[in-house]
Amino acid sequence: MGKRKASVRSKMEPKKKVQKLATTFSCPFCNHADSVDCTIDLKLRIAEVACHVCKESYSTKAHELTEPIDVYSEWIDECEKVNVPLSDDHRDSSHDDNFV
Ligand SMILES: [Zn+2]
Repeated sequence: MGKRKASVRSKMEPKKKVQKLATTFSCPFCNHADSVDCTIDLKLRIAEVACHVCKESYSTKAHELTEPIDVYSEWIDECEKVNVPLSDDHRDSSHDDNFV
């Protein structure tokens, strides 16, 4: 008699990880959350992140594997480089031009 085979597979869709890559980030300059958008142009091989609040932007080279987060972190890196404050104990002043 009707052996009910467990054909009642509960509709468990294989969890497709909706891997929505984050493409908005918070701005390192104005600190607005999600104000930074990333665009990657693989034709021109340029990736750009820009804050629509304070209009800061940064662009870099892009390739197939470039992800928004990469561009963003690169930007952060750059910012940190640029913002390296004139720390007092930064003895290595190889270029102390008019330090007023
Ligand atoms: Zn900003």
